[in-house]
Amino acid sequence: MDIEDIKYKILRQHLVEQLRRKFSFDERVLAAIGKISRQLFVANGLEHLAYEDRPLPIAAQQTISQPFTVAMQTHLLEIKKWDKVLEIGTGCGYQAAVLAEMGAKVYSIERQKELYVQAQNILWNLNYQVTLFYGDGYKGNSAFAPYQKIIVTCGAPTVPPILLEQLAVGGRMVIPIGVNGQDMQLIECFGKDDYRTTRHGNYNFVPMLEGMAGK
Ligand code: SAH
Repeated sequence: MDIEDIKYKILRQHLVEQLRRKFSFDERVLAAIGKISRQLFVANGLEHLAYEDRPLPIAAQQTISQPFTVAMQTHLLEIKKWDKVLEIGTGCGYQAAVLAEMGAKVYSIERQKELYVQAQNILWNLNYQVTLFYGDGYKGNSAFAPYQKIIVTCGAPTVPPILLEQLAVGGRMVIPIGVNGQDMQLIECFGKDDYRTTRHGNYNFVPMLEGMAGK
């Protein structure tokens, strides 16, 4: 381990301690965050900010979610090994790495080509077996449905019905709902057309947009 790695490891431990003080997250979520090199996912030149608890810019005017938000969404999902998870909004791929680190089988969709390509490279280099798609998350991905867990990492105006259809019975979906600021909603599916929604705080996400962006 070189001196840079040691420096990042210490910063990462501080971040985990900070998150633990803020909320009693599932320790398995914190362990995953404690393992993943977030500095590899942020834009070049911002590596020194990678372990602050804040969102940061990535390519295509998007953001890497704040570590607290990643921890909360992952905590609410209650990930179990081999869970099939659909993520909408791969971005740089950090959240997907956290899910994969916890043993989930991750399928993630991104509408920005540039980010899709970047995430593919980073996750491949880190040896995470995550399946990425360049597409429109509003359509979900019926090929691998149903999913035990669905996570949306962009702000949706309302819950897309197709995503509900692709959620397994007994499954959990975590989705930020709202246009100017979002309400973190957890939707649990107990049976066909039998859902229970609970709210888990206010957040600010980039918007969930329809269709695919070019490039
Ligand atoms: N999961 C990321 C967060 C990225 S920000 C992380 O780990 O930090 C949210 C991402 O959602 C952006 O990259 C944006 O392009 C993407 N997005 C927005 N609308 C989408 C849609 N309809 N389908 C797929 N991705 C979408």
